[in-house]
Amino acid sequence: MHTKTLTELAQGLRTGEFSSIELTQAFLKRIKQHNHLNAYITVTEELALQNAKDADLRLSNDKADLLTGIPIAQKDIFCTLNIKTSCGSKMLDNFIAPYNATVVEKLNQAGAVMLGKLNMDEFAMGSSNETSHFGAVKNPWNINMVPGGSSGGSAVAVSAGLAVCATGTDTGGSIRQPAALCGITGLKPTYGRVSRYGMIAYASSLDQGGPMARNAEDTAILLQAMAGFDEKDSTSVNIPVPNYCSGLNNSLDGLKIGLPKEFFGEGLNNDVAVILETAINEYRKLGAEIIEISMPTLKLAIPAYYVIAPAECSANLSRFDGVRYGYRCNNPIDLTDLYTRSRGEGFGKEVKRRILMGTYALSAGYYDAYYLKAQKIRRLISQDFKNSFTKVDVIMGPVTPTTAFGIGDKMDDPIEMYLSDIYTIAINLAGLPAMSIPAGFVDGMPVGIQIIGNYFAEDRLLNIAHQYQHVTDWHQHTPKGFE
Ligand code: GLN
Repeated sequence: MHTKTLTELAQGLRTGEFSSIELTQAFLKRIKQHNHLNAYITVTEELALQNAKDADLRLSNDKADLLTGIPIAQKDIFCTLNIKTSCGSKMLDNFIAPYNATVVEKLNQAGAVMLGKLNMDEFAMGSSNETSHFGAVKNPWNINMVPGGSSGGSAVAVSAGLAVCATGTDTGGSIRQPAALCGITGLKPTYGRVSRYGMIAYASSLDQGGPMARNAEDTAILLQAMAGFDEKDSTSVNIPVPNYCSGLNNSLDGLKIGLPKEFFGEGLNNDVAVILETAINEYRKLGAEIIEISMPTLKLAIPAYYVIAPAECSANLSRFDGVRYGYRCNNPIDLTDLYTRSRGEGFGKEVKRRILMGTYALSAGYYDAYYLKAQKIRRLISQDFKNSFTKVDVIMGPVTPTTAFGIGDKMDDPIEMYLSDIYTIAINLAGLPAMSIPAGFVDGMPVGIQIIGNYFAEDRLLNIAHQYQHVTDWHQHTPKGFE
């Protein structure tokens, strides 16, 4: 059952081929069986079975949503009422959330069954899932390799069949990069499309939650349930949510695809480039017109991001002080000791590095030189995308420069690690939607292609992804041992 898509499972639940209880039990069993992948931080077995029981009742009353009775899992960055919400950190290892994030609430209302909370890089800072307090997550395509990050647990859960689909968050690439490295489909929505309420903040002006699934159709169904205005999030956008499934079969005839030459230059692995070329050709056959464009500001994305994101994180993470909630050091001698030791012992190395960088960039005398300058670059990048979208409908390119790298390979070289997001970060700075879809393999490891759209063009992206998945089967491959 675990290799079936959400749509197929929803059908099976309706025809009575299996119940949600049976489906949920099958997934719970697989989670135990493949525990070594370390995809889950918390498995909520009892709650899942209760959810499944409720879903079966709802299905028998014909009041079901497409997600009713479907076993899903939440990235451990989303607050879940009465359930540990750790954000991958020792700081929140003892934090039981007193409320549900809006995304969690919405998926509960749809009747989805929550199997548990997924592993992630600490506070979503990382590209390999190795910064998690709960240990590295292993890529099911080769367990010596990283799954990508920060939503590594989510990508692994979907690709290894430990959940039908999962939520992720993307501040600089954390949905798209792990999706690409694990051979699944992931979508980072337009900033403001999905509520951030109850989603633990890393860099608030960049963070965006989104769906991760086996294919574009399942991604559309999950996004449908997650998206929408939320008065509890002042940056959520109050415009109607389209029906993401209705346009999936639209023709791509005449679609204008832009390929920024900056995406295909030095740094991109040759084998990955060949796969992208093949995928682009597939789009040509589907009726698309390919247009080369140039986006000179793309190269500025990494330096701008690594000023803005740490600056915001240094402010957001100041709330973890050992006083109100989270980790508190033993026997503090005074208030300063309480702050410094609680934070010193509760945060990991990468989180501390970011807080230090951010605090430095925001300090008096440096603000203009770093933060203000980075914000100006951010504007230029948005402008560059805006100009491109006057010439083309969507932009395509790589998601990652290479396939998954080895566990431990980049942990001692933060700059090298930061470069893994070279093709994804600019999109967050501009607030645009983008997808990663499976496009092939290099030496048995998955490769993704990125599709970037204009603001709120999620429906178009899903359509473009779905049409490709109609004529290719890369999204249907399953890692060996997880069939
Ligand atoms: N890898 C990037 C970082 O470490 C992006 C992470 C993310 O999108 N959450 O900041």
